[in-house]
This record gives sequence, structure tokens and C-alpha cells, in this order.
Amino acid sequence: MNYADYLREIDRGAAATDGKVVSLAGGYFGVQFPADGAYVVLALDLDGDQGWLAWAEDGDGERCCDAAEEVIGHCPLEQLRNRAFVALAEHVHR
Ligand SMILES: [Zn+2]
Repeated sequence: MNYADYLREIDRGAAATDGKVVSLAGGYFGVQFPADGAYVVLALDLDGDQGWLAWAEDGDGERCCDAAEEVIGHCPLEQLRNRAFVALAEHVHR
């Protein structure tokens, strides 16, 4: 995936999930939306083929644990929000 496609897909992901685009470290971007008094963050794998990833953050941007990232993979954007909630519901804190 080239960077322009990546940015376009992030924008589409934000629109589909009613989230907002947030800047992540290293030139990466994610999509953030509120959930349960915290935030869900979605990121898209730019360098590989993992597709979408999701993790939960608190209001200070701290992840719930070191193993916070759950792989959603590739899915239709209209399913992305639900798939993120499912992935996080299955997440086990270590
Ligand atoms: Zn966790």
C-alpha cells in the first residue's frame, strides 16, 4: 500500500466509524472514537498485510496493556466499527 492510498483509507475509515483521524508516532495515522469513557484507536498496517488493528486507550492516550493491539484484518469499512468492538471484547489483559 502506498502512502497516498494509506492516507485515503484512514480518511475513509474515520468517515465509516464516525471517528476522527489522529496522528500516531512515526508518520502513521489512526482513527479514534470514544467508547466506554475511553477511546478505541484503529490503525492500518502500512508496511505489511495485517489490515486494521485496534486497541483501547484511556483519556491520557495510555494503552490498556503492552499486548493491547488486536488484529481485525481486512473488512468492509462499514463493519469496521463493530469489528473493533468485537476484537476489543475478546482482548485479554496480560
Ligand atoms: Zn489490555
